[in-house]
Amino acid sequence: MFESQEIEELISFRKELHTHPELSGEEKETAKKVIVFLEKCKPTKIITSVGGYGVIAVFDSGKEGVNLMIRADMDALPIEEVNDFEYRSKTKGVSHKCGHDGHTTILLGLAKHLSKNQPKKGKAILLFQPAEEIGAGAAAVLDDEKFTSLKPDWVFGLHNLPGHPMHEVVVRKDSFTASVTSIVIEFLGKTTHAAEPEHGVNPAMAVSELIMEASMWSNNLPDREDFAVVTPIHIDLGDKAYGTSAGEAIVGFTIRSWSESEMEKLQKKIETYILALGKKHRLKVDFKYIQEFKANENNADAVESIVFASENLNLKVSEQKTPFKWGEDFGLFTQQYKGAFFGIGAGEECPALHNPDYDFPDELIPTGSKLFYELCKKYVACP
Ligand SMILES: [Zn+2]
Ligand SMILES: [Zn+2]
Repeated sequence: MFESQEIEELISFRKELHTHPELSGEEKETAKKVIVFLEKCKPTKIITSVGGYGVIAVFDSGKEGVNLMIRADMDALPIEEVNDFEYRSKTKGVSHKCGHDGHTTILLGLAKHLSKNQPKKGKAILLFQPAEEIGAGAAAVLDDEKFTSLKPDWVFGLHNLPGHPMHEVVVRKDSFTASVTSIVIEFLGKTTHAAEPEHGVNPAMAVSELIMEASMWSNNLPDREDFAVVTPIHIDLGDKAYGTSAGEAIVGFTIRSWSESEMEKLQKKIETYILALGKKHRLKVDFKYIQEFKANENNADAVESIVFASENLNLKVSEQKTPFKWGEDFGLFTQQYKGAFFGIGAGEECPALHNPDYDFPDELIPTGSKLFYELCKKYVACP
């Protein structure tokens, strides 16, 4: 599908993104580079500033048919890169440690191929999404009429998977990734002199009871449908003022489950507990959820399309027994549209995602673009 010089061009684009990573919501220069690349591919239209710095390229056959949406993410992470190759990150404390530089390049590879092999029916919609890592980008795109007016019928996305054999396609019916959210709980009591705690309301006991109780909400057993992981993330209690008994505390947890229905049950249990705990200790309780990632609940037909595409390319397919425990905000798309999220092995030797020595393996670029092109053949009649 690609000439070796085209692959070289894609790889050097990926390295360029790697050298100049941008954090979630700040993908301004990345988006500009994507737009410049897309312009050469002459899509029917390019739509910019979608849900922030998101970019969409539409290849429209002009004929009735299916609207196929394929998404890549563009953001980097607040992690200092320890690699010393010549294209290492030039931005201090920021680097592409999840391979979104690679995902973006894979989708550009598809755009390049579509420019010469246009859909014959319907539309191919290529979405370059911002702010995946903080669980905000998909929501912002879905809130943007520039996206929703395109009315996708099917949606697809992929993630590279270190620890899985290179090029192996990893699929799963039902949930592919966990439902993940974070809860920030605030207890408000009353400060008083440290010598006279009886005149105030110190939230320390409530915090300690909460931490003990929360340890019983987890069952880190991936085989179970009611799998749940509740992890304490931070505690903030009082001030470093040794004459004052604390009057306020903030406690944060992340919560994971395999499905949205299990997540609802878990949230209800936590909320009931903390409200009762506040009452018991005479504390005002406030809580909010942040960084919500919906479970990627895959459509069975969409998964079959991925398997079919992989077999056409002679790629090994493996079925993942349990979902992945990480959150991926593509789940918001699969909550609203038919589609599927899948994985592609990045090799057993590849450092784990978010490790400071991780780097996206370039061999996956043509593989990923070809897989997506197979989906274009099926859904929008590409040649
Ligand atoms: Zn990540
Ligand atoms: Zn990622």
